[in-house]
Amino acid sequence: MPSVQELASDLIGYSTVAPKGDERECAKYIFDYLKDLRVDDSEINFHEFDEARANVVAVFGLKIDPGLLLSGHMDVVPPGDGKLWHTDPFSATLMGGKMFGRGASDMKGGLAAILKAIQEVAKSASLKRRFVFVATAGEETGFVGLTKLIQNSIINSKSAKCALIGEPTDLRPARAHRGIYRVKVSFIGRSSHASKPELGVNAIEYVCKFVQKLNSVRQDLSQSRDELLGTTTLTPTLISGGIGENVIPPNAEVVLDSRRLPIHSSEYIRSQIDSLCQELKVEYEIRELVNHLPLNTPEGNFLTKLAESITGSRAGSCAFGTEGSLYEGELGIPTIVLGPGSVEQTHAENEFVELSQIEKAVSTYSSFIRELCL
Ligand SMILES: [Zn+2]
Repeated sequence: MPSVQELASDLIGYSTVAPKGDERECAKYIFDYLKDLRVDDSEINFHEFDEARANVVAVFGLKIDPGLLLSGHMDVVPPGDGKLWHTDPFSATLMGGKMFGRGASDMKGGLAAILKAIQEVAKSASLKRRFVFVATAGEETGFVGLTKLIQNSIINSKSAKCALIGEPTDLRPARAHRGIYRVKVSFIGRSSHASKPELGVNAIEYVCKFVQKLNSVRQDLSQSRDELLGTTTLTPTLISGGIGENVIPPNAEVVLDSRRLPIHSSEYIRSQIDSLCQELKVEYEIRELVNHLPLNTPEGNFLTKLAESITGSRAGSCAFGTEGSLYEGELGIPTIVLGPGSVEQTHAENEFVELSQIEKAVSTYSSFIRELCL
């Protein structure tokens, strides 16, 4: 069987670049690897859902009660400016105890460690509780792969008692992250010749007034501070408008990104935005773009405690969002994020993972499977 290094290197070789993803070949590699383990009472499934896109779901211990679910995504963000890379982003390169390549830390290193742990543990003893492995497509673009699995009830609230996601946390457990709520606010004005602005309604000016007013909502949101997660943010991230240099703009829109604490529901944030818009007394429209729930596994949960005892680190939070929004937020399965690699490497040029970390991750994941399923 391949070593964890070989697994990580092979996975990096598949250019599963978001938003297209093209994960099918990578998924086929994982599917074949798991099939080759020839574990009794298991089922390995390949779920194609779009052109060249697929998830893999493996269930070990079909006839026994649910236990642990291990999850990782196969897609990666684009490599960015190729000139800034010292190596080929899609050919893993070893240097000074590190493996370089796009996805090395986010999160093909973590996926490789999960696959190796499954091989080490699944064959070693008979399971007392079921464990499930999920390799997802399209995580970087709104969790599209996992959403399909949930919509088709291939993954549901009864799939597992708890879940572990191998995203890069430097092998420190994270039990919480904020939710993501993103909306587009469009203002509808009326065009006129730029020489006669009084005949039109300038939508760009309304966007500007609106952005200035946001401060009052931000102040309200920042009254609540969470020890682990900080505060809820609300930030304009994209702005556009107008149809010509000499035309009073009849349209303008702004995208707002909010990273929200569990106490601020998306409905609450939306209502705050809505009342700001109403104050402007102009036609407007609010469209929801993204709504991912926070991850919020309690401090006292058995999984949090187990993660702390296995890693020897106190469970904290992670800054980025994960599929924990769906596993924990939507399905109610307690979830911990824990994986090799650092968030500083994530989405950057010359991304790497420490080889010692992916090796440590194998024994960490094996411990979870042993504790929860053997
Ligand atoms: Zn990731």
